[in-house]
Amino acid sequence: MKAKIVLLPGDGIGPEVTSQAVRVLDAVAKKFGHTFLFDSKRIGGIAIDETGDPLPQDTIDACKASDAILLGAVGGPKWDDPNAKTRPEAGLLRIRKELGLFANLRPIVTFDELLDSSPLKREIIEGTDILFFRELTGGLYFGPSGTEELADGQQRAYSTAVYTTKEVERIVRMAALAARKRKGKLTMVDKANVLEASRLWRRVTAKMMKDEFSDLEYEVVLVDSMAMHLLSRPKSFDVVVTSNMFGDILTDEASMLPGSLGMLPSASLGSDGPGLYEPIHGSAPDIAGKGIANPLATILAAAMLLRHSLQLDAEAADIEAAVKKVLAAGYRTADLAPKGSSTLGTIAITDKVLELL
Ligand code: NAD
Repeated sequence: MKAKIVLLPGDGIGPEVTSQAVRVLDAVAKKFGHTFLFDSKRIGGIAIDETGDPLPQDTIDACKASDAILLGAVGGPKWDDPNAKTRPEAGLLRIRKELGLFANLRPIVTFDELLDSSPLKREIIEGTDILFFRELTGGLYFGPSGTEELADGQQRAYSTAVYTTKEVERIVRMAALAARKRKGKLTMVDKANVLEASRLWRRVTAKMMKDEFSDLEYEVVLVDSMAMHLLSRPKSFDVVVTSNMFGDILTDEASMLPGSLGMLPSASLGSDGPGLYEPIHGSAPDIAGKGIANPLATILAAAMLLRHSLQLDAEAADIEAAVKKVLAAGYRTADLAPKGSSTLGTIAITDKVLELL
């Protein structure tokens, strides 16, 4: 297969980790007889510095014309001035909107070799394999909001959670289809005891599960309970679907289960068109340029890209297996290793992945 992949390395460690994922994709292309054409474009702080815009038009055009996009990370102290005209993160929000990426997928998988770096007990997290679907373009973060001046000198601020039937249906369908290919269980998280928008989620999902997905096991959990269940019974979840803000918070909570940010990829998908793949960590300005960033999350994001945008399941599984083997063989980057033990840098650990592919 021939595929066009746009690279958005971004800021901080972004370029360091994306360049390693490209090495792995090149190796996969060679092994399986594919051609991946890479085109690198600007986003975030570097785009602000060079063009004044965190998402220049030529980046948008290249992304729209691609089969898939691999992003590093954006942001850093250089662009943190709260009074700045624009911020690196604005580029990320806009690219999601331009491409209609309404679903954020976050796999939370624990690696046996890293169980001891998790803050939770081994027996609780061992075997955890959750795929989160967070709605990304609606709800509280995009509904009407504002601040009003009151007569008595106080201010009154509001944010509104708004969802339509269609917005709920399209992400629930995506999640349910994924559950069908996995263990066949879908958990929907809401706050239907309080929020009207959650009651819509509950009605729409229940109807879909009955009409289209009666073969799946279906469970509804309130978001406050879910915050507890994630820490007490993470193994009992398969696919979890939820609204924008609940997903934002729960996926960050869940990201602590495997023990390191440096191992977690994510994908943002729309109905058609290219998907956007990235590690969940940020630009890690504290270690940028030192050659010690863990590239495995970005390498695993590249595996997701192959699976979800190019339908190359065997190739994706090959990368994931190589990463597992690297960990099983005892190789670690600094973020994964106990203090004082020997570690590999960004390039050296990728060399090991390439050896084991
Ligand atoms: P961060 O994820 O960049 O870093 C948190 C901690 O984890 C740091 O100590 C960092 O060194 C470490 N870390 C992160 N990724 C690592 C890796 N691959 N290997 C080894 N160690 C790693 O989060 P932060 O410090 O809160 O944010 C830094 C900047 O990144 C901010 O400007 C923030 O806005 C931005 N950010 C961007 C994204 C994104 O682009 N999607 C996401 C989160 C934060």
